[in-house]
Amino acid sequence: MFENLSDKLNKAIKTLKGQGRISDINVAATVKEVRRALMDADVNYKVAKDVTDRVREKAIDRKVMIAVEPGQLFVKIVQEELMELMGGQAQSINLKGSPAVVLIAGLQGSGKTTFSGKFASYLKKQGRQVLLVACDVYRPAAITQLQVLGEQIGVEVFAEPDNKNAVDIAKNALAYAKTKGKSVVIVDTAGRLAVDEVMMKEVEEIKKTVSPSEILFVVDSMTGQDAVNTAKTFNERLDFDGVVLTKLDGDSRGGAALSIKAVVNKPIKFISTGEKMDALDIFYPDRMASRILG
Ligand code: GDP
Repeated sequence: MFENLSDKLNKAIKTLKGQGRISDINVAATVKEVRRALMDADVNYKVAKDVTDRVREKAIDRKVMIAVEPGQLFVKIVQEELMELMGGQAQSINLKGSPAVVLIAGLQGSGKTTFSGKFASYLKKQGRQVLLVACDVYRPAAITQLQVLGEQIGVEVFAEPDNKNAVDIAKNALAYAKTKGKSVVIVDTAGRLAVDEVMMKEVEEIKKTVSPSEILFVVDSMTGQDAVNTAKTFNERLDFDGVVLTKLDGDSRGGAALSIKAVVNKPIKFISTGEKMDALDIFYPDRMASRILG
């Protein structure tokens, strides 16, 4: 996903590498190139500006100009800033409660149902008793989709196809999970093509009813700056705990991965890299930063 950004950043920094002595003019020009590369990757202007302002300050503080290997030092500074931008350390999932409830929210097509299956499979492998809950009452195919995934990974799916009240279904599922001794309940909610009031109210209501210990917002990384704007709207309404960035196997430019944390102040926790049930990774900002500037 970051190929273009990597190319551009490496090219920008190359001008500093191999130079014995560099001037503040070289540094300023490189910082500007880095900013342009970030904006080309669809990082929003303010975020790109803040990051590169910090890179410039650090470069001056750490005396890049008189360093033995200015290029290397500069790369290190950019890597540190990218890592911080993406949230620093990897963040864990809160599975408190018996059962713990994880609420999955996001727009239609973002990859919620696929992620719910992957996450259930991931937790099952840790030995947890998982229940998947189909709360998308608007798209009958969504229930079937979750049931098919559940069968594939060997996780029970709770659904009430004739019930059109998602809040009720969530409540019933939680009661059922308790009687069955489940340890984690994953609630897959309905999404719309765009943010709408009915959907938001419904998810808010489900949140109130099932008191999740973790709310994950799922977003398609291919949607670039829109992903960040959608995250902002969902966060204002749901105050979610973490982001799941999907479709990183596509040709997204990476802007969402780089901007979301800075804009909504919530960490990316998982990345999804395909349709198969094992295409799920914990998000490590440090590894991602090294990958970008490898
Ligand atoms: P939902 O409407 O949010 O529940 O989205 P779905 O889980 O149904 O996903 C929408 C489409 O995107 C489906 O065709 C999925 O197979 C596909 N999809 C989901 N996650 C990924 C991913 O990480 N990579 C790719 N390539 N496709 C994905």
